[in-house]
Amino acid sequence: MQQAGSTLTSEHLLWVQYHFAVTAVHRKSKGKPNGKKPAPEEKKLYLEPEYTKSRITDFEFKELVMLPREIDLNEWLASNTTTFFHHINLQYSTISEFCTGESCQTMAVCNTQYYWYDERGKKIKCTAPQYVDFVMSSVQKLVTDEDVFPTKYGKEFPNSFESLVKKICKYLFHVLAHIYSSHFKETLALELHGHLNTLYTHFILFIREFNLVDLKETTVMDDLTEVLCSSSGSSSNGSGNGSSNSAGAQNHVKER
Ligand SMILES: [Zn+2]
Repeated sequence: MQQAGSTLTSEHLLWVQYHFAVTAVHRKSKGKPNGKKPAPEEKKLYLEPEYTKSRITDFEFKELVMLPREIDLNEWLASNTTTFFHHINLQYSTISEFCTGESCQTMAVCNTQYYWYDERGKKIKCTAPQYVDFVMSSVQKLVTDEDVFPTKYGKEFPNSFESLVKKICKYLFHVLAHIYSSHFKETLALELHGHLNTLYTHFILFIREFNLVDLKETTVMDDLTEVLCSSSGSSSNGSGNGSSNSAGAQNHVKER
């Protein structure tokens, strides 16, 4: 797989280095509150309107994620989950050279930190690249396991299929959220933010449509979700309550 990172020009690299330096200064100056008002949160670059409006397509994702008639629900979930896995893996690969054990010592998204749990449920503290590696290799194993994601005619999906899909989507969400919170500057330098926004919008609408990820889990990115997913609808009305689709209404993300 060709890594888009290798296409970085020296100009891009300088740009990235400059922003790394700026970020480092911000982090240093944050410090402990010492009983004073907590320092204001670092500005989230990915929420800037000039970047949030960038997409690679105007597809109506709300309609695109809906289960088509005559297609089995599990087949639909399997095919979409596998596709999202490949796309998110590819998107991460574009910035993976910047996601190192030094730059990302923990798997952090804004102020939330994630831990990996091994097969016996033991909590493992790991760096972000290790975490992403755990996610990608375990998902790869699942989506290529004929007993879990059957592709042959007549083979049934296991009873645990839905819970496995939910687990996969939760971890893929962590990876997407990490790209936004820690590698948006590099994504911008590569001019891949339109791809990232498009992938994120499609993915969020898909997991909402089928209630695949707990709303609590996605709260960390609610500010972005609101901007990206409310503008992806055909309605320019900000209230977003005009949907006649009961599933859409049921899954509607709470307004802040
Ligand atoms: Zn990282």
